[in-house]
Amino acid sequence: MTQNLVEKTPVTLLGLGAMGTALARAWLAAGHPLTVWNRTPDRAAALADEGARVADTAAAAVAANSLVVICLLDDASVTETLAGTDLAGRDVVDLTTGTPAEARARARWVSERGARHLDGGIMAVPPMIGVPESGGYVFYSGSHELFERYQETLAVPAGTTYVGEDPGFAALHDVALLSAMYGMFAGAAHAFALIRTEDIDPAAFAPLLADWLVAMAPAVHRTADQLRSGDYTKDVVSRLSMQVAGTPTFLNTAEQQGVSPELLTPYFELMRRRLAEGDGEEDLTGVIDLLTH
Ligand code: NDP
Repeated sequence: MTQNLVEKTPVTLLGLGAMGTALARAWLAAGHPLTVWNRTPDRAAALADEGARVADTAAAAVAANSLVVICLLDDASVTETLAGTDLAGRDVVDLTTGTPAEARARARWVSERGARHLDGGIMAVPPMIGVPESGGYVFYSGSHELFERYQETLAVPAGTTYVGEDPGFAALHDVALLSAMYGMFAGAAHAFALIRTEDIDPAAFAPLLADWLVAMAPAVHRTADQLRSGDYTKDVVSRLSMQVAGTPTFLNTAEQQGVSPELLTPYFELMRRRLAEGDGEEDLTGVIDLLTH
């Protein structure tokens, strides 16, 4: 069934934290009838002034519309909130961050209650919601039919990227990207720690660091190509043996500058293990084997 182009799809939203409130405002601004519920009712007051219908209970909010979007703190809060609701016939889109296993279990749980389920992983912070040029988007996985049916509505707060029928895939993509982000933040923390030991302006260093990270980022495409082909020596630009030989420079510099190497050493250790077990002509891709085998 296609969405009516004149009457915007009505949305029920459970959860008005920082993210839920941003989602609510985006749907209200786009003219979608919106029913909201939040455990702490005060947080709904401003949205009521902006046109949202405020339900007294989660059950009443769920009863109001077919499309029920959930954006709560964690999976446990979703269990608590849905406990007294009748989900039969509802289309549940859960944007609460969780693990792939939680998403799969939730999909089964929702299905057992006669409803359909789509999981989402939000790749945005609240100020990016409702701002298409921000680049924010949401990974979706689970029922493709549900995704297609509501895509236009779901695209109001942020872009939509569907990653598969497995309900766990949105969470897996979400966590994978955020894990890479933490690796980047860890590297940046070490870099700032190094330059802070000298009279170097962090504000002058920051653009150099940002540009370098951007310049290095496309290396992930080579990694993907090597993983697909199984040939980790394909198109190598910096051999593993050369890179391992260079690690003392990093560790000695850290020591000389009085900086703890603890963010670097786990990765260097994996590089060394791979070199000991494998081929020095490889790229760094073999490290992935050590993590997964
Ligand atoms: P907040 O901490 O601002 O809000 C948490 C929400 O969960 C509130 O509505 C809160 O209700 C509700 N809640 C917590 N525990 C329970 C419970 N036991 N029963 C019922 N309701 C409960 O978090 P955000 O809005 O920022 O985040 C919501 C989701 O969005 C999270 O899963 C988060 O990981 C995800 N997300 C957030 C991002 C961000 O930058 N903020 C970025 C990407 C994803 P109450 O008001 O009563 O406390």
